[in-house]
Amino acid sequence: MISFNDLGLIAPILDALQDEGYAHPTPIQEASIPILLTSKDLIGCAQTGTGKTAAFAIPILQLLTRFQTKGQTGRDIKCLILSPTRELAIQIGESFSAYGKNLRLRHTVIFGGVSQHAQVQALQRGVDILVATPGRLLDLIAQRIVHLSQIQIFVLDEADRMLDMGFINDVKKVITRLPEQRQTLLFSATMPMEIQSLANTILQQPEKVEVTPVSSTADTIEQCIYFVEKPNKKALLHHVLKNPEIKNALIFTRTKHGADKVVKDLNKAGITAEAIHGNKSQNARQRALNNFKDGTIRTLVATDIAARGIDIDELSHVINFELPNIPESYVHRIGRTGRAGMDGKAIAFCDQEELPYLKDIQKLIGKQIPEGTDNPYPMDRTQSIAHTHQPQQKGGSRNNGRKNKNFNRKF
Ligand code: AMP
Repeated sequence: MISFNDLGLIAPILDALQDEGYAHPTPIQEASIPILLTSKDLIGCAQTGTGKTAAFAIPILQLLTRFQTKGQTGRDIKCLILSPTRELAIQIGESFSAYGKNLRLRHTVIFGGVSQHAQVQALQRGVDILVATPGRLLDLIAQRIVHLSQIQIFVLDEADRMLDMGFINDVKKVITRLPEQRQTLLFSATMPMEIQSLANTILQQPEKVEVTPVSSTADTIEQCIYFVEKPNKKALLHHVLKNPEIKNALIFTRTKHGADKVVKDLNKAGITAEAIHGNKSQNARQRALNNFKDGTIRTLVATDIAARGIDIDELSHVINFELPNIPESYVHRIGRTGRAGMDGKAIAFCDQEELPYLKDIQKLIGKQIPEGTDNPYPMDRTQSIAHTHQPQQKGGSRNNGRKNKNFNRKF
């Protein structure tokens, strides 16, 4: 298996990757990084979850550092990444922060739906890399706050989603603002005709890299769902963990606080558990991870961010104590088990408020998750049907802005 050292990366980036805990490049990274380092154009057929962000962020950081050492030190925007959603834009920004932490490059993220003030301030301080959603970008271009004349690298991420979300004309408008001479990267999970023809016009002799879509990972893992009232989740977790087949389990919560609560409760019940999340020091996280890997503790409780990049061989179960509000995170979470041909099982708990999240997850993975059979704490379904008729559902604000009107009645 090849390592990041074999890809010709500079030491500050290799060090940062090591700190992230990345041992080996993913297939899309292995294929794309060498191509991009030669400044070629690229079409990447890959979904979220394949490591595609690092596949472009790492070589971009290296190329821009190379430009810097060649004397291009001005703070004009040199690289633009277009993302269809605010969540993805933020994630991309976080990736640049992580992989570029030892470099002298600056980046910022801009998106709509919030005041532009802080974004404008960040832009005025000068950035090398800009991650943007198309609408806000066009707004700031019209206000002459963003100038794209010095762009050397342009990335169109999740191009098919741009099309689905009706942003394709905005994307085309942005492209007319870019210099002709540039390196262009296009990533898309699928290649509908319109994206193919856009690719033909914006890329020059691109190399093509393709990897298996993330949703297929989900097919190899046995999944089940337990419908449960929120206050009964702890009791259900104790019940589930009585199963001796669960040698070890990575348990996901949405918040750091939630992770601590679950650990406390498991310890009280005599089940060994530790938490890893952003409030813990790097040492404490590493210690918890080592204890989990060597079997000292049976359960590790994590948030999505903390679990990024952690690689645990021989993980028998993933338990979603809370469902993620971003459906892709579910696929990332369950993909931690069933690695390297091992059997993996993923169990999820879903309470009334999480039903819309489940609907999004099932849509993404393209199937219904079967229901767990031995549930001593079943959800009151009459309640959930009543919920569908309440316009202001409690907790609805956490629902990522999605409306509940298509709420699945069968729950
Ligand atoms: P992405 O497809 O870019 O959304 O990445 C999916 C997840 O994989 C993110 O949580 C990354 O932090 C993680 N990741 C990316 N590259 C690697 C790697 N080489 N090793 C381990 N984890 C990685």
